[in-house]
Amino acid sequence: MENVSGYLRRFLLSSRTITLINHEPPANTPVALSVSRPLPFEKDLPSGDLRPKVALVTLGCKVNFSETEALADNFQRAGFALVDAHGTDIPDVFVVNTCTVTHVADRKSRQMLRRVKRANPQAVVVATGCYVYTSPGEVSGLPEVDLVVKKTDEEKLVELVSERLNYELPYRPEPSRLLFAGGLSPSATAKSPALDRYRTRAMVKIQDGCNAGCAFCIVPTARGGPQSVGIQEIVEGVRLKALAGFQEVVLTGVHLGKYRAPAENGQAEGRPVRLKSLLEAVLREVDIPRLRITSLEPQDYDPTLLELWQQDRRLSRHFHLALQAGSDATLVRMRRGYNLERYARIVEQIRRELPDASITTDVIVGFPGETDQEAAETLAFARQMGYAKMHIFPYSPRAGTLAATMSDQVPEPVKKERAERLRLLSDELSQSWRQRFIGEERPVLWENNENSSDTTVWSGLTDNYIRVYASSTNLMHNHVTRARLLRLAGQGDAEGMWGEIIA
Ligand code: SF4
Repeated sequence: MENVSGYLRRFLLSSRTITLINHEPPANTPVALSVSRPLPFEKDLPSGDLRPKVALVTLGCKVNFSETEALADNFQRAGFALVDAHGTDIPDVFVVNTCTVTHVADRKSRQMLRRVKRANPQAVVVATGCYVYTSPGEVSGLPEVDLVVKKTDEEKLVELVSERLNYELPYRPEPSRLLFAGGLSPSATAKSPALDRYRTRAMVKIQDGCNAGCAFCIVPTARGGPQSVGIQEIVEGVRLKALAGFQEVVLTGVHLGKYRAPAENGQAEGRPVRLKSLLEAVLREVDIPRLRITSLEPQDYDPTLLELWQQDRRLSRHFHLALQAGSDATLVRMRRGYNLERYARIVEQIRRELPDASITTDVIVGFPGETDQEAAETLAFARQMGYAKMHIFPYSPRAGTLAATMSDQVPEPVKKERAERLRLLSDELSQSWRQRFIGEERPVLWENNENSSDTTVWSGLTDNYIRVYASSTNLMHNHVTRARLLRLAGQGDAEGMWGEIIA
């Protein structure tokens, strides 16, 4: 029998899960949507091979992934067939949702557009997303790109593609301002899209944009100021996902703490709906087994939010609380708007009220002017916080940001060495976090599996975001069962625990 690490390695290679990294692209691999779902509006749509085929790839953060998911839904509702970006079907259209968070992300976006055209010379290659929003001229200049969809036109992307293909849409789509997952309004008789075989978790975008002005971040330029999706639109989006069979919905946004939807039915005039009220509404109105939020921001953390987690076990016990630096001096230069005392108070409250909740974070190393002393403070503070996982990003200057103009840029070898020390610390903290749960039983949502001649190993996530591996000959995909956690397993992105399925 193959050893566990072999399975874990192959899980990583075949996994289509999406890494949660705020404001930085996940490790290189674009994730392709490959969905084969029954369509709503079936009676109005062309059948079989007459449907234009569309493939989508995404670079960047979870917000981009949720937008691609919404686009995929919109294309399906408009009669397109979604095909695997890496499969054998030849797409008529290839949409690349780009990223611009660093100059490396820009380069990867260009490379992806070129690669897609080379592999599919017949396809209409469509560029959209943050790189297009910040540098439309650069993208338009790429000969491989056939259609550039700017921020102001993103609501009409499906229509623009249809025009380009001379494909007559079977009905007039209703654009969704923020491309929430669900996108175009379904007809009263529409079937819910069925779950595809890869995913158990759906994303619903609730917010876009930011005006916090962190010195290293291009997001406010790329996406503009904060905008929020209406509360009923979100409730409907989550309901559609639940009807489709998804066991978990993740509410995504650039800066969730800035969620402010206009007051609706019965809400006091002039008092916008904040994140807590939105979560209450979703939990009250939709029967979804798990609800997760992508991140909390220390800048505008609401200390009453945790009441919801104490009242309702459907909320996942995982908080991603971006730190970025564990030195007050660095935080001031970064213009982050909080200090370590405030950050530590938030962590202390989470630990006190929800002791089994995982806390993960992002840290930037080598921000301009970071001294050895500041780097050491970050290391010590991270140790004190006892994170379940840290995502470490060596600072990379982004043209158009304040930080890129700062003197005292840190040499690359120094960044590399500091990043390595933080990574080692992250591994150590992660191990001791997971060790606490040995012998415990937790609910696990099983996602995917890997077969060998003598067993099937399933991989899933606990309610508090620990990856679990367990063997079973049953079909576990998209089921939640309890599992006993037996021992640590895996390393790096595959780190988790070996478990035993109980029911
Ligand atoms: S909070 Fe800061 S890092 Fe996050 S999107 Fe806003 S400006 Fe960027």
